Amino acid sequence: MQKGTIEVKTENIFPIIKKFLYSDHEIFLRELVSNAVDATQKLKTLASTGQFKDELGDLTIQVEVDKKKKTITIRDRGIGMTQEEVEKYINQIAFSSAEEFVKKFKTKTEAEANAIIGHFGLGFYSSFMVSEKVELITKTYKKGGSTKAVKWECDGSPDYTITDSDKKERGTDIVLHVDKENTDFLEEYKIRELLTKYCKFLPVPIQFGTKKEEEPVEGELDKDGKQKTKSVEKPWIINNPNPIWKKSPSEVDDEAYKEFYRELYPMSFEDPLFQIHLNVDYPFNLTGILYFPKAKQNYELQKNKIQLYCNQVFVTDSVEGIVPDFLTLLHGVIDSPDIPLNVSRSFLQSDQNVKKISSHISKKVADKLEELFKKDREGFEKKWDDIKIFIEYGMISDPKFYERAEKFVLLKNTDSKYFTLEEYQKHIEVNQKDKDKRTVYLYTTNHDDQFGYIEAAKERGYDVLMMDGMLDSHFINTIEQKLKDTTFARVDSNSIDKIIHKEETELPSKLDEKQKEQLKEIITKSIDNKQFDVTFESLSETDAPFMITQNEFMRRMKDMSALGGGPMMGLGNLPDSYSLVVNANHPTMAALLEGDVEVNELKVKQLYDLARLSKNLLKGKELNDFVKRSLQTII
Ligand code: ADP
Repeated sequence: MQKGTIEVKTENIFPIIKKFLYSDHEIFLRELVSNAVDATQKLKTLASTGQFKDELGDLTIQVEVDKKKKTITIRDRGIGMTQEEVEKYINQIAFSSAEEFVKKFKTKTEAEANAIIGHFGLGFYSSFMVSEKVELITKTYKKGGSTKAVKWECDGSPDYTITDSDKKERGTDIVLHVDKENTDFLEEYKIRELLTKYCKFLPVPIQFGTKKEEEPVEGELDKDGKQKTKSVEKPWIINNPNPIWKKSPSEVDDEAYKEFYRELYPMSFEDPLFQIHLNVDYPFNLTGILYFPKAKQNYELQKNKIQLYCNQVFVTDSVEGIVPDFLTLLHGVIDSPDIPLNVSRSFLQSDQNVKKISSHISKKVADKLEELFKKDREGFEKKWDDIKIFIEYGMISDPKFYERAEKFVLLKNTDSKYFTLEEYQKHIEVNQKDKDKRTVYLYTTNHDDQFGYIEAAKERGYDVLMMDGMLDSHFINTIEQKLKDTTFARVDSNSIDKIIHKEETELPSKLDEKQKEQLKEIITKSIDNKQFDVTFESLSETDAPFMITQNEFMRRMKDMSALGGGPMMGLGNLPDSYSLVVNANHPTMAALLEGDVEVNELKVKQLYDLARLSKNLLKGKELNDFVKRSLQTII
């Protein structure tokens, strides 16, 4: 037996390892299984170059938990180590890199440490986060000389021992004697959960426990003439060593993409709409698959579903700062060894590689969308309602993406017809220009609530866009700024002839100023009007007598502040800004100036309620009063 003390350069890091990064104790398993994978891959490389000539045999990595003995064992059949190598790699190299890592993290607060993605670098010594003693039993693939199997043992002090071992098989066993504080990790379900989280796509098969599988019994049929099966206990391989994102896109068909989606999100019942396979070697290495999921009403729900891997090792499922914000709504995986992992998120954004990767992803997404649009416009239109949120989000937040998406972003009108920006401009250019030569884009945010206003617009031959998406109020602002001489107005923001103000539709008022004053007094007396401004418009005789309109600018601000963001952010709940528009040219108005006061009051009430009713603003007691009053006038 040989005893020794690990050369401590700065200070004894074992107690620090034990205590710190408490919330991340679980990464020990990722570190040890990754080491086992590396050792196996190295052996495979040696075999492929002819430096290793023996049988490779079964290379499956095994993870075992012994609850009684309180141990976790990670066993590989990789290259193993000689005694010399153990002294060099474990006692010296691994220890000093762990020291480095500890030094870097020690000065950080827990919050800062947790903001660091990955926590890579602690390596082998992360085993001491959960163990009171660690044994490493290893036999090298090398032959002759001093290549006997050895056992290294350390109890979490800088002292270690190395003894001979009778291990027969090539490879390394790491045996963790789990300490009292970490007995959670002796639960089978816990280890399975961690293996599934971190090791699901590692490139070497990993076995943990067994599972029952049905197997056909040769030559035997049951009473229905079907093949008989029996239940057999099989090794449970927890990972998929060949995930399709590592394959070339030409080798993968649509069904395989869908299947992989289900593997990533077993709880998801819906297939994705389509996917983008990322595959770059130069100037950075990036593979992965991004899926466009079906849009959910609550888009927060589908955020943070992209998993980040580094050479098939799971790192995190928060890719904030790595992919452009609008693409965090996508699902899938990104795998890149070129993303720095031991840095904080704020640092990520300034990293040149990350910047390149991020803009590459954004470009790829735009290219794919353009391709879908060009290849199959009809199919693209069918998907539009689901993908619109991504595209609008991208156009709002990323000017480069806006430029790319301009070609394929669609506007949908109330007849469910789709137009590109260019097509739509042509479609309405002639008819919807106001007297200041601005093209007015009319839209509705709710087909039912604004039905009467939509109809009024249509009667004049105008087109109305459906803008009922979650981001539409922001999106309208964005395109309004980009398109020249264009304004957007919701159909109920004014009377239609005022929204698209043309000289030929201007009418003289049938009431003079004095009559308007009189009428205003009658109206304000008749109704409890705190909410509305009363304004007069000279509309046509056939337009409604009273109408409720909602100021475009104020309403948009309110919508945007409700969503969060926009110039009015933080102002809380803005008030509604409705107006009661009185059509001075409606025949009833002149009549209201004469005749019985009580009858007129009743008429005003009725007209006012009808106006509110057509904007879906009449509710509760007021609605009930209206119904009663209406019944009285009939009976
Ligand atoms: P890293 O893996 O980042 O190099 P580690 O501290 O995890 O750092 O491991 C240090 C070294 O110990 C490895 O580089 C490797 O040479 C050796 N090693 C660790 N685990 C194994 C193993 N299972 N089989 C063979 N060598 C190993």
